[in-house]
Amino acid sequence: MLQRLITALVLAITTTVLVICTNMQFSSSSDAFTQLSTKTTQLTSLSPSPLSPPSLPTTSPKAHPLPPTLAQWQDRTNSGDYFSQVTPTQLGYLVWSQFPVKVYVQSPPSANNQAEIWINDVLQAVHEWSTYLPLIVVDKPEVADISILRKAPALQISRDNKILRARSAQTTYEFYISPNNLLSHRFTILLSPSQIGHYLTAAARHELGHALGIWGHSPLQSDALYFSQVQNPPPISSRDVNTLKRVYEQPTSLGWPLPKDNRR
Ligand SMILES: [Zn+2]
Repeated sequence: MLQRLITALVLAITTTVLVICTNMQFSSSSDAFTQLSTKTTQLTSLSPSPLSPPSLPTTSPKAHPLPPTLAQWQDRTNSGDYFSQVTPTQLGYLVWSQFPVKVYVQSPPSANNQAEIWINDVLQAVHEWSTYLPLIVVDKPEVADISILRKAPALQISRDNKILRARSAQTTYEFYISPNNLLSHRFTILLSPSQIGHYLTAAARHELGHALGIWGHSPLQSDALYFSQVQNPPPISSRDVNTLKRVYEQPTSLGWPLPKDNRR
């Protein structure tokens, strides 16, 4: 029964976000950036998949206590936020309430130099966010809240069956009921193995921002959650953290027990 309910619950939503969205005809990154600037509208959407979601059990949304890392955050520069760009899901804002949040970073079956570099570039982004939310790196994807996989996202196909572009990152989430009956979510981030260096770290930083709760994009290039890749990727900005903090002040059904009449 529970299994069926969980199956019915699963609802994947895809971001078409990204970051180095290389058009298939181009291989150099400067072309990719040129391409980006002309495809703004395609990059901005964080749209739900067209599948109609199954009906989800709900609890009345409540805010969780702020984690101390965010409670003590003060922006002395008063740089504002882009909270208005963040969209809640049908279960509320994508707030984590069990800390530390468990992050898995995929390692290849046999370690090699290139993979090591890739993992370290990604771990750098995990480390940066852990200043603002407690994160822990785990070895097994089964126990992870956020799984970061070394895998290129599927090609996007247009309505007339043309390949639009290759994306270098993709972030999806799904809902499930935890063994202790909490409405829960988990994220999967795909990051292309072909990315390296500070662009990879920037992509990981951006996608982790989504997975930590910023389900939206900044209109400013100086923020990590700006909707597209930029030549000199910025670190996590005060505006990113201000936005994250506001998200964590919002009510959500996630992380709260399912009402009794939904328990089977
Ligand atoms: Zn994004």
